[in-house]
Amino acid sequence: MSDAPSYGFDTLQIHAGARPDPATGARQTPIYQTTAYVFRDAEHAAALFNLQEVGFIYSRLTNPTVAVLQERIATLEGGVGAVCCSSGHAAQIMALFPLMGPGKNVVASTRLYGGTVTQFSQTIKRFGWSAKFVDFDDLDAVRDAIDDDTRAVFGEAIANPGGYITDLRAIADIADAAGLPLIVDNTSATPYLCRPIEHGATLVVHSTTKYLTGNGTVTGGCIVDSGKFDWSASDKFSSLSQPEPAYHGLKFHETFGPLAFTFHGIAVGLRDLGMTMNPQAAHYTLMGIETLSLRMERHVENAVKIAKWLEADPRVDYVTYAGLESSPYHHRVAQVCPKGAGALFTFAVKGGYDACVKLVDALEIFSHVANLGDTRSLIIHSASTTHRQLTPEQQEAAGAAPNVVRLSIGIENAEDLIADLDQALAKATA
Ligand SMILES: *Cc1c(COP(=O)(O)O)cnc(C)c1O
Repeated sequence: MSDAPSYGFDTLQIHAGARPDPATGARQTPIYQTTAYVFRDAEHAAALFNLQEVGFIYSRLTNPTVAVLQERIATLEGGVGAVCCSSGHAAQIMALFPLMGPGKNVVASTRLYGGTVTQFSQTIKRFGWSAKFVDFDDLDAVRDAIDDDTRAVFGEAIANPGGYITDLRAIADIADAAGLPLIVDNTSATPYLCRPIEHGATLVVHSTTKYLTGNGTVTGGCIVDSGKFDWSASDKFSSLSQPEPAYHGLKFHETFGPLAFTFHGIAVGLRDLGMTMNPQAAHYTLMGIETLSLRMERHVENAVKIAKWLEADPRVDYVTYAGLESSPYHHRVAQVCPKGAGALFTFAVKGGYDACVKLVDALEIFSHVANLGDTRSLIIHSASTTHRQLTPEQQEAAGAAPNVVRLSIGIENAEDLIADLDQALAKATA
């Protein structure tokens, strides 16, 4: 089918990017389990290497199964192109890579996935990059943090672990005024609940490991390009606007226009960083995406029921779910993610750290894992696990204080999940 934007989300999540296999007519997208592709002749090979013709060379760069997934996610997000890679963390590095350089910084929200805080505060320093963390609810602080060496602004649409909702439009306007791209991690929201490009995001990154695949089988990541950023408006993004020495002097923006970032991501990013998604992973994620909207509806429905039940329970101090009227982020739901505030939130247990640890051990349906966005309900005590490397101040700022557990609500029967939480809370607070 042609991927006409007039099709609805439920249609596109099944069909976008896919067509019957031209060789066999296979209706489902085959897993092209191959490393290399035979060139038609020497001229064809040269044209591919010169990027004069788009095609398949070697699976570190492109693979037909992965290509379908790229087109599928780009379509669902309303972008012009996408690059898939080996994990969500790889996607973040791949998104920053063409923009940054030694001495350059990214202005990032304090409310991020714990692993991202570590990646940005520690590991990227080895590239000479740095991150400035600011509270994205304080717009003046965001504005003030941007300096001449800033090359991107980075936040999550529905922020991990508390389910806080970012005012994407306000942040996008600040980035725009500074001539900078806004990168939004849309993992927790998915394009079903939120489409950051419509709120002004330049790039959208995903951990496809989570809701897009949906059942905890494979890791993967994706960078979607809105195609809307003018990389040549300043001299800040020379890798895209100037002759790129890593690709025999090619000017990506001049040559590929709105697809500059996507082509750079494949021709330089995947080629030289090698964080490639394998076709098996792409297959599992394609299977997952076919049911994304149905799962997200149930995830949200269950999350609302459970958050309300927890909020009314005397053994619970507070619940952070933005879908609750008591949440300071509730007013942003209608604007940012009108179909629901996701299914990820935290709650504070009376009894603090010890009660949290007992709760996690007493649950029977909820699995204690460092993952989210699974059909199964999951729980984690962030302070003793994913946010363990953070200082107490960083834990608090990230919404992962010691008395707090994070839930990723699955698509089981809500009453069973509530009964499980009820019996485990009884044991934890006895
Ligand atoms: C899991 C996650 C990541 C990292 O993704 P991986 O696939 O585990 O590398 C990044 N951001 C968010 C919001 C996540 O949930």
